[in-house]
Amino acid sequence: MPLILLDKLQAIENQQGRVRNAERWGPRTLDLDMLLYGNRQSQNPRLILPHPGLFERAFVLYPLSECAPDLVLPDGQSVYDLMQRCPAQGLCRVD
Ligand code: ATP
Ligand code: CA
Ligand code: CA
Repeated sequence: MPLILLDKLQAIENQQGRVRNAERWGPRTLDLDMLLYGNRQSQNPRLILPHPGLFERAFVLYPLSECAPDLVLPDGQSVYDLMQRCPAQGLCRVD
């Protein structure tokens, strides 16, 4: 099921004109990543769950912690604790 969802996300990226090339983190029209799929864990390179960036990216941890302050990841870590240990990295709230 998570791979079917990934296919759907990538289809939406393609519909929005995304062109995949060898350059990672280059400019793109749209980037849809799957952060979590319940408590599922996967090391399949096509779909790593939880998304590895979740643990260290302020732009993921701060809004995620706001949406789901009690969220605990499959390895037992709390999103709130991870967020508190993560520097804001220049993130600012848009009101
Ligand atoms: P990052 O993953 O560091 O945010 P990115 O989003 O720029 O980088 P992409 O080029 O969009 O990377 O994706 C590369 C590949 O990563 C995709 O083809 C996809 O199969 C794979 N992938 C692995 N885990 C995930 C995940 N949790 N969500 C989305 N794509 C994933
Ligand atoms: Ca990404
Ligand atoms: Ca992506």
